[in-house]
Amino acid sequence: MKVIGRRAEMAALSDAWRRRGLALGFVPTMGALHEGHAALIRRARRQNKRVAVSIFVNPAQFGPKEDLSRYPRPFAADRRLCERLGVDALYHPSAREVYPKGVRTTVEVQGLSDLLCGAVRPGHFKGVATVVLKLFVTVRPSRAYFGEKDFQQLQIVRRMVRDLDLPVEIVGCPTVRDGDGLALSSRNAYLSPFERAVAPKLHQALRLGARLARKAGTPLRLLREVRRELLMIPGATIDYVSVVDPASLEDARRLKGRLRLLTAVRVGKTRLIDNIALSC
Ligand code: AMP
Repeated sequence: MKVIGRRAEMAALSDAWRRRGLALGFVPTMGALHEGHAALIRRARRQNKRVAVSIFVNPAQFGPKEDLSRYPRPFAADRRLCERLGVDALYHPSAREVYPKGVRTTVEVQGLSDLLCGAVRPGHFKGVATVVLKLFVTVRPSRAYFGEKDFQQLQIVRRMVRDLDLPVEIVGCPTVRDGDGLALSSRNAYLSPFERAVAPKLHQALRLGARLARKAGTPLRLLREVRRELLMIPGATIDYVSVVDPASLEDARRLKGRLRLLTAVRVGKTRLIDNIALSC
């Protein structure tokens, strides 16, 4: 496995693979890799001749009061995991390499970026879309793999790729969970033992919502039940809980067809997100 810090070197390696006709699967991450990331990498491994993973804690997607400086960075363990999973290139650039002094250009997927997590984290998805586009330009993958765990991010990336005619296939992958249902996340490491013990209730509340999809009658009634469940999590505050159209992320007016139930909840100081498909 090649570990690469320089943009030009990553681009040259990808060019060489492309000239040989080797499909390249790409998994962008912020590191602190867990089984959720591993599932994306395995899928990329199965579907492509070459696999690149990036580890880049992107400053542009953190707000001024967020956890950029304390975000976990266990690089040696991440590197070993990538090696074990058969990754061909691990791209690990510095912030300066990705954002040289004086950059002024950003990418914004309008509409989709201001809702849900975007309403609570202004500028977050502009940071995400900008870095994903920059990584795509450097890595030039045939396919890129994103988790449904970050459902809004996945839909924003899909939309950006469509709107900008980017030559990459976006592959969405199901959320990987712990045995008790908690979606794996690098941020779970922030939870105290007590918070960790109650955190699976987030998924339980969403599952209740999925069970009620055909019975609740209206989105409002369904949301009232889910909210009631979420409020029973000790120490939790709800950022949002919404039933939306999966492509536009707009609030569903009726419980009809395929919808998505999404939530963000603060458990203590840690913000957890999760979502589930509804078939009504
Ligand atoms: P992150 O390192 O948190 O930026 O995540 C990198 C990629 O891994 C994103 O596409 C995430 O959606 C995906 N991911 C994170 N956690 C999970 C999970 N539990 N299951 C599936 N994919 C995940």
